[in-house]
Amino acid sequence: MGLNQINIPRYFRLVKGTPEAGRTLVELISKLKAGKPLFIMGHHSSQLLGRPLLEQFGWELPRWDELIIEANNRAQVDLVRRRIREEGHDLVVGIGSGRVLDVAKYGAALEGVNFLSMPTLLSHDGICSPVAVIKDEEGRNRSLGARMPSGIIIDLETIKKAPLRTIRAGIGDLVSNLSAIADWELAAAKVGEQIDDFAALTSKTATIALLESKITDITNETFLSMLANGLILSGVAMEIAGNSRPSSGSEHKFSHALDELYRLPNLHGEQVAVGVILCTYLRGGDWQEIKEFFSRLAIPTTAKQLGIGAEELVQALVHAPATRAGRYTILEDVKIDAKLAREAARATGVID
Ligand SMILES: [Zn+2]
Repeated sequence: MGLNQINIPRYFRLVKGTPEAGRTLVELISKLKAGKPLFIMGHHSSQLLGRPLLEQFGWELPRWDELIIEANNRAQVDLVRRRIREEGHDLVVGIGSGRVLDVAKYGAALEGVNFLSMPTLLSHDGICSPVAVIKDEEGRNRSLGARMPSGIIIDLETIKKAPLRTIRAGIGDLVSNLSAIADWELAAAKVGEQIDDFAALTSKTATIALLESKITDITNETFLSMLANGLILSGVAMEIAGNSRPSSGSEHKFSHALDELYRLPNLHGEQVAVGVILCTYLRGGDWQEIKEFFSRLAIPTTAKQLGIGAEELVQALVHAPATRAGRYTILEDVKIDAKLAREAARATGVID
């Protein structure tokens, strides 16, 4: 039996402040033997981190150029690809939010050049994954296969400047790994799905450290380091498994259902967090522990906090299995219906 080809980033550095971020950037660009990097940024991330970095350290870099990205759609990906080809860039450095990084990552993958990732938010585990989310012509998000970054630099000072709800969403997305792994184990027991032990271990380990920490200040650097490590490992677990199983189960189906039915202005990880509570209850797990942890850090635990009413929540949970048919989870196992969904949501205090 052959082994899967697994791409894990060669460099992962947590830094504090622009000077250290700049020195690390110069070092990694040299290690990746790039002669002509292309910096891809968003308007906001450019002001926050990109411009200060290039102003202070640009002179130490090989001939670079920059491109500001407006949105995560096909047209922007094509723009990136054209620039890489026409100017002969041999490295793409993405600085920004998930959207900016996805366009940079996907464009680099299609042109076969290395990608160096500098996330300015820690709101989900897509910051280090082989997947890029790009909007299609109808404006719908599509998950497309890309490649893992060659390196990642995370500046904790920049992360701290982001809205706190982005950090809270990142915590929700990371804690969801435990629910996803429980679903994977259930699928192995009930429908004979194959578990990748190392992917499951990586995903679980990344999460438990954070759950067990007693820290209540989410801007605490030790806590942010744990969150960054966890989200990176979560992406690595998906790469090892070759799919999103280790980080996406029933709780993600619930979030996808909310997206399909209501298009709310919530962050992905906020919706996933409420999904974790509901799905942990359904499988008879310790949902109280998770709810207490979320409440302590002001992460959403109720329908109200997601901006929906009780019946809308019940409908979303019932619709959840249809968002990804073929992925067996606790929702399929209990054959979720409105009655059971309402019972779960009431018992956990997600609805009154
Ligand atoms: Zn997620």
